[in-house]
Amino acid sequence: MAEFLAKSSHKLLIDGNWTPAASRQTFSSENPSNGSTLGSLALAAKEDVDHAVSAARTALSGHWGDLTPSEREAYLRRLGNLIASNAEELAQLESMENGKPIWHTRAIDAPVAAQLAYSFAGWPSKIAGYTPSVSVPNKLVYTRLEPVGVVSIIIPWNYPLIHTMQKLSPALACGNTVIFKPAEQASLAVLRLGELTQEAGFPPGVVNILTGDGPTTGALLAEHPDVNKIAFTGSLSAGQSIMQAAAVNIKRVTLELGNKSANIIFPDADLEAAVPGAFGAAFGNSGQSCVAGARLFVHQSIYETIVKQLVDLAEAATIGPAMDPQTKLGPIVNEFQMESILHYIQSGIDQGAILRCGGRRLTAGNLAAGYFVAPTIFTGVEDNMAIACEEIFGPVLPIFSFETEAEVIARANDTKYGLAAGVWTRDVARAHRVAAALKSGVVWVNTYDMFDASAPFGGFKSSGFGRENGREVIDAYSEVKAVWVDTQ
Ligand code: ADP
Ligand code: MG
Repeated sequence: MAEFLAKSSHKLLIDGNWTPAASRQTFSSENPSNGSTLGSLALAAKEDVDHAVSAARTALSGHWGDLTPSEREAYLRRLGNLIASNAEELAQLESMENGKPIWHTRAIDAPVAAQLAYSFAGWPSKIAGYTPSVSVPNKLVYTRLEPVGVVSIIIPWNYPLIHTMQKLSPALACGNTVIFKPAEQASLAVLRLGELTQEAGFPPGVVNILTGDGPTTGALLAEHPDVNKIAFTGSLSAGQSIMQAAAVNIKRVTLELGNKSANIIFPDADLEAAVPGAFGAAFGNSGQSCVAGARLFVHQSIYETIVKQLVDLAEAATIGPAMDPQTKLGPIVNEFQMESILHYIQSGIDQGAILRCGGRRLTAGNLAAGYFVAPTIFTGVEDNMAIACEEIFGPVLPIFSFETEAEVIARANDTKYGLAAGVWTRDVARAHRVAAALKSGVVWVNTYDMFDASAPFGGFKSSGFGRENGREVIDAYSEVKAVWVDTQ
């Protein structure tokens, strides 16, 4: 890692070469735990995007396009092995840059990134079409799944290792070539993954990595006429811009956007599991997660007990710099996000919600130069307040009280989003009834924040469309061709 971080400036990966931006423009990456600068990155603009797209186009019809499925599998397995053997470095790079506690990147992000490569490495030889039973006489029809072509992938800063491998692996498994844009706040771990793709032997142009910002690099990728598909995870507003830009050439689009997850605790729940579960759902990664359990509904009969237990957990949380192994909750990714969270907290107070704990920036001792916000709990929150409706992306939890199942289902669904939700109950019938009634792409019952390469993940409503993981992701990175053959 010392070697990687010692580079004074990081470059773009285009056509197998590390090159500076044509304009020589750069931007810097910051460590949110202490405000220090981690490195200078190239800001890719039009010339670089054109270069990467043409390299990816050429690579599609080169050696990469001629590989057998089992050869593509071998590339992905090699990449998985390299991620596994460099896991500690990758974990440290992510933690330094986005502030996620090192216990988390070591235990989850880095190993899961390797698992994703291994899991999708199993796909190429299993991708298959079918033979539809057509009613036209003397015709044989079969379908083929073919690569979509040149795929642009744009991700946010909160899970760079997992987001990268969750999109890159299926894109490559399906035979596409990729132009990858990490978030400007967290590019270093992704650039290191880029080096590992080279070490794994992927031919030049198959994986290109462009660092840069959304309005320049991201927008250019979304509108480029020679990009066939764009896979995006990020904010609703950026997703809307991307969808519009993609209309230029009818790009295939999959979007994973915001959410305001409802997490519901019924009175018959196992509270010893539900309370820490709700705490982790809301405050894990300091609330900087698209599936954060950001609206907690608790039955009125247990409401005050649970609020008190959650306040106790919030006040006892170990908050500190990401690289400290004792740290359970790290900083907010940058000053801008911290200010946005503090603004939401103030709006809750101004609108009359009751602040039960937190509600402020933490600056004591070694937190002074970082962007730390205390875990914050509100009660007395109306369903239409900003803190109840908008995605805050920080450690802020409004806790609502409810009376009936029908009422809480209606309130949980009363949001433009629909990515994930949680239900805590010991009543089996209720668990399945409520899971079916929630308008959400994922429902967790008596657990939360669970992911796996084999389980589909994605949103209803304004949380986006298309699925990651599961069988569905293969469709997201493939075109279907129906071949008709006369057999007479
Ligand atoms: P946030 O700023 O909340 O992290 P964004 O949706 O703005 O969420 O950013 C997620 C990713 O999308 C980042 O890689 C960012 O550079 C990129 N991005 C932002 N705006 C656009 C846009 N208009 N077009 C393409 N990409 C964008
Ligand atoms: Mg943004």
